Amino acid sequence: MKGTMRAVRKIRLEPGFDLVKVEIPQIQPNEVLVKIAATALCGSDVHFYTWDEFAQKRIKPPVTIGHEFCGEVVEVGNAVREYKLGDYVTADSHIVCGTCDVCKLGLQHICQNLKIFGNDVEGSYAEYIAVPETSLWRLSRDVPTAVGAVMEPLGGATQAVLIEPVTAKSVVIFGDGPIALFGAGVAAAAGARKVYLVGMVASRLEIARRMGANVTFNINDPLDPVKAILEDTHGIGADVVVEMAGAPQSMKNAFAVVRKGGRVTTFGLTPKPIEFDINFAVTLRQVTVRGVAGRHMWDTWKLADGLLASGKLDPRPVITHELPLEEFDKGFKLMTTGARDTGKVILRP
Ligand SMILES: [Zn+2]
Ligand SMILES: [Zn+2]
Repeated sequence: MKGTMRAVRKIRLEPGFDLVKVEIPQIQPNEVLVKIAATALCGSDVHFYTWDEFAQKRIKPPVTIGHEFCGEVVEVGNAVREYKLGDYVTADSHIVCGTCDVCKLGLQHICQNLKIFGNDVEGSYAEYIAVPETSLWRLSRDVPTAVGAVMEPLGGATQAVLIEPVTAKSVVIFGDGPIALFGAGVAAAAGARKVYLVGMVASRLEIARRMGANVTFNINDPLDPVKAILEDTHGIGADVVVEMAGAPQSMKNAFAVVRKGGRVTTFGLTPKPIEFDINFAVTLRQVTVRGVAGRHMWDTWKLADGLLASGKLDPRPVITHELPLEEFDKGFKLMTTGARDTGKVILRP
């Protein structure tokens, strides 16, 4: 497609982004052009906005930011087989090679040659995005565009919670960021017997309860969540613990609250390496540790899709703001300065 479009790009090697006019991306034979209906701000994009050390190592401007989106297929490459004009789609943020050993082992999402939209290739804070067919996921028309835009982080939550079954199990989630809040919804929708969420922001704990958490704890309250959960589980501990805060103390609490033979999923990234007693935490208590980065392509997507279709999972309480693309700055200010009350922020081009 010919013409220009608006895009929010990282151009200057300093904090902030710029809204500029650029050419509409020209698609390759294996790609489709998606007209973006909604795109979501991600915590990882905040690094690029504030231009911290991580960001300076990770991306090479100029690049259009954004990797969570949905929209309509408006142009189809010659070699594309499964998608056609008018399809309502979202995409994994990952562009995978499909041929490395890791991909062949079924772990495409941690491909050796991984590229990410809005990091390594042009992203979704724009009117259009070019997407290889291998990264696309078709959405049902029943899925509102605000939800379509958060399928990628919802997939992360689904993977972290459901990497092993949670049906009839007690589940503790540490963290109250958007993915942790999605995680509470996933655990409840998948039939957990009781969902506990440990966070630090009252408004987010309120969202967690709307998502299906049965009990929430605020670490700023005098009540010790580990002690309370141990008591509630007759001193045994929780069957499943999902660490999504990435705080050293919360990582330690995750292992303190899991039962013998239970499962801990590590998802949050700690700012620096932490030390703990692996003998007690894992070995002697036969705890299973499952690390989760991103989401399996595509069984996790199928699970998230199914939970949405069942009507048991509705991620919308987590979406707290919708703004026009032009107001991206306001969105990122909400994510940085006003972060405490901000869930997911959606931009509409
Ligand atoms: Zn993201
Ligand atoms: Zn690969």
